Amino acid sequence: MLWQDIPDLENIKRHLVQLHQQNQLPHAILFKGEQGNAVLPTVLGFMQYLYCDHPQNNYPCGLCKSCKQTKNLYYPEFKFILPHFSSAKNDQSEEADMFKTFYRLIFDNIFLSFDDVLKEVKGKNKQAFIFADDVHQMIESVSYSAVGNKYKIICIWTPEMMNTIAANKLLKTLEEPTPQTLFFLVTSKPDELLPTILSRVQQITIPNFSNQDIIDYLVAKYDVQPNRAQEIAQASNGNINKAIHILNYFDEYEELLNDFRELARLSIKYDYDGIDKWMSKYENAGREALKKFLEYTLNVFHYSLLKDYELEHLIKTIQIEREFISRVHPYVHQNNIPKLYEIFNDAYHHATRNANMRILLNNLFLRCNEVLKKKNNTQHV
Ligand SMILES: [Zn+2]
Repeated sequence: MLWQDIPDLENIKRHLVQLHQQNQLPHAILFKGEQGNAVLPTVLGFMQYLYCDHPQNNYPCGLCKSCKQTKNLYYPEFKFILPHFSSAKNDQSEEADMFKTFYRLIFDNIFLSFDDVLKEVKGKNKQAFIFADDVHQMIESVSYSAVGNKYKIICIWTPEMMNTIAANKLLKTLEEPTPQTLFFLVTSKPDELLPTILSRVQQITIPNFSNQDIIDYLVAKYDVQPNRAQEIAQASNGNINKAIHILNYFDEYEELLNDFRELARLSIKYDYDGIDKWMSKYENAGREALKKFLEYTLNVFHYSLLKDYELEHLIKTIQIEREFISRVHPYVHQNNIPKLYEIFNDAYHHATRNANMRILLNNLFLRCNEVLKKKNNTQHV
């Protein structure tokens, strides 16, 4: 079930149920809220509620035939649309892969973001769209009337990724509503939608969670110690998906920080034995591990820059990182961050393009040596 799994937000759930019970559901609703928060699960949970044969206390019962179907996010009258890579009619493999990945991930984490799906699909470096064909097929599917007294529900996730033709087709459909059909648009970027589409929908904002909601969720679902849950909640800024990501990488963060600290120390001294050992570790760990390290380091640079500009309150991170950023500060500061950013970004670029790992890492150490040895004082990292 989804609604039961979303902490709090009782007001929103009650509001939606009341609209339905009072027969006042608008034919098109734009649900807006941060990616990775409750916006998508709220919509999918509402779909389950609307199809449930015997809803109880504003919740789907979870037991009826319809609930058994919608539990798997399937229902004959329900259509879910998400962006994919290819517009070719005969090339459905990429679309299928996007759907498969989405279904595989959402059952693990109902708060997933579209980026989470993109990271896992084949061809992830391409630009994904919702194409005119997707909207066309959807229009065809709503042209038959719904069975019994239930709605047809079309849910479009990230409608801002519709191409222009698709957006205009959708607009036309919204202008001529079909009876018993509901359109749910789920977005974190309403400003990127056509104003004419915005004028055709009722907007509902799904807020972020409180720190306490996130703490309770992490403790109950992932059995996290309360003090660790509190630290993660503070770093996640009310976004539950971000909290889950931090939790998954919590132990890893410490190791990544140590690796960066070592890299900085070895680069400055240009201690080749140490460098060789460091490089061997990542050669053995593989390309994905190196990419994660580089991505992580780019984040550290970003935080260091915030510290330089005395914007530390914007650093939403865990305690060990905050301490580390303070320690690394004599070496990583506003004068060299642009250069370091460029060096690590280049390395990341080469890592994604199958460059030879040893050449790539040698180059990284050499370039870091040039930049880092020009430190402002002699403090040790
Ligand atoms: Zn039910």
